[in-house]
Order: sequence, then C-alpha cells, then structure tokens
Amino acid sequence: MARRKKIYEGKAKILYEGPEPGTIVQYFKDDATAFNAQKHATIEGKGVLNNRLSEFFMTGLNAIGVPTHFIRRLNMREQLCRSCEIIPLEVVVRNYAAGSLAKRLGIEEGTALPRPIVEYYYKDDKLGDPMVTEEHIAAFNWASQQDMDDILALALRVNDFLSGVMIAVGIRLVDFKIEIGRVYDGDYQRLVVADEISPDSCRLWDIETGQKLDKDVFRRDLGSLTDAYTEVARRLGVIPNEPTKMTKPTLIN
Ligand code: 5GP
Repeated sequence: MARRKKIYEGKAKILYEGPEPGTIVQYFKDDATAFNAQKHATIEGKGVLNNRLSEFFMTGLNAIGVPTHFIRRLNMREQLCRSCEIIPLEVVVRNYAAGSLAKRLGIEEGTALPRPIVEYYYKDDKLGDPMVTEEHIAAFNWASQQDMDDILALALRVNDFLSGVMIAVGIRLVDFKIEIGRVYDGDYQRLVVADEISPDSCRLWDIETGQKLDKDVFRRDLGSLTDAYTEVARRLGVIPNEPTKMTKPTLIN
C-alpha cells in the first residue's frame, strides 16, 4: 500500500491526505494532553472512543442540517472528512459556569448561566489560546462579519442539539469547544463544523450525581478517563451496553 501523506500532527489527531481531492483522513490518537500540553499521557482506547463519539455527534448534526466536515468513519481510528481551511478560533459555548469562566469571574462551578454564553479564543498554542473579542477577529481579519454571524448561529445550533442528546441520557452539557472550517465549492464558500466533538472538548456531568464524564477526569486526576468516555458512549448507544460475552464453541455432531 502506498504511504499516505501526513498533512498535520496535533496533540490528539493526525491528518492525512484523503483518497480523493478535497478529502482528508482524520486519525484519532490515544494521547491526552492538558494545560497546553504540560500534562501528557497515553490512554489506551481513547482514540477509538473519540472516533466513534465524534462520528455519532457529527452524523446527528448533518442529519438536522448543521453542516460538518464529516463524511464517514473508515475504521476504528479513522474518519473521512472534507478538507477545509480552519478558522483560527476556538468557539466555546457555555451553559453552566465551569473551568476558566468560573475562575475568571469568580462564579461557583455548576451555576446555571442566564443564557448560553459564546466566547472566542485565538488558536495559538505558543500564546496559550488567548480569549479574543469580535473586535480582534474583525481587525486582524480572521473572519468577516458574515462569517461571525454564521459561526454564532452554528455554535448555538450545535449547543441545542448536543444539550438535547445529552439530557436524554442523563448528562448535562456544561460547555464545549468547536472549530469551524471553510469549505470551497468552486467560487462559493460555506462554513462547517470541523475537527471533532468528543468528551475531550466538552464538559459533561451526570445530572443525578454530578460525576464528571469528560477530559476534566484527566486534567484533575479524578479516575479513569477510559471508563468515563466508555460510560458516555454506552449511554448514547454508540457501544453496546453489555460487554459482548464470549460463548464456548459447541461441538455439532
Ligand atoms: P475552559 O475555557 O473552561 O478551559 O474550556 C471551555 C470548554 O472548551 C471545555 O469544555 C474545554 O474542554 C473546551 N476547550 C477549551 N480549550 C480547548 C482545547 O484547546 N482543546 C480541547 N480539546 N478543548 C478545549
């Protein structure tokens, strides 16, 4: 088999050139990083779970008319996606105070916000992804006003969809981060949800117990990350509820 061309290697994924022009293959690694990669570990099975979970969320979004880059899952660790130009912003939507918002504004974690809050961070690891306003985005030409209107609408639709899907399985969507890409169809460009949606990029709390089922388990050393992600995948029906039982072969005379 011909060696595939690697386009980019990030902290949790590798992107390869896809089989057809305009496509890429996204490979999910088992690596987990936090605090701008100061904390790092390899967590067996994380890539497989995130590949399946991201497929589940992106397929659902495509089905309700929220465009994403996702085409189809290829195997345990890879998915075929449309190639796009990533807008250099992390778009964060928050429903409850947690993480950096709780710290910055001194609000107790878990406090319900009066309405979803959308924030933008400039994607630059060297700078630690600083928060930016629409003024910075316009001044530095990272996105146009039309793009910003579209990004806000996409972010809120993703929030409604994910919140509903999660509530149905007893999980609270506290906050999440998405990335947006530009896809070109000839002269025409449109914006799509890109990258991944998984417990690596969301905060997910059990509604009954408050148990954390997301990457904070790794960030804050709260137990097994694989167990937490497996629980999310099980509740969503992405993996079977019961582990498959191996039956003994029977001799047929
Ligand atoms: P916070 O700003 O509170 O640290 O993060 C808000 C939300 O965005 C959390 O769900 C967090 O997981 C997600 N998030 C923020 N920055 C990143 C990032 O660089 N990578 C990933 N995977 N998620 C992020």
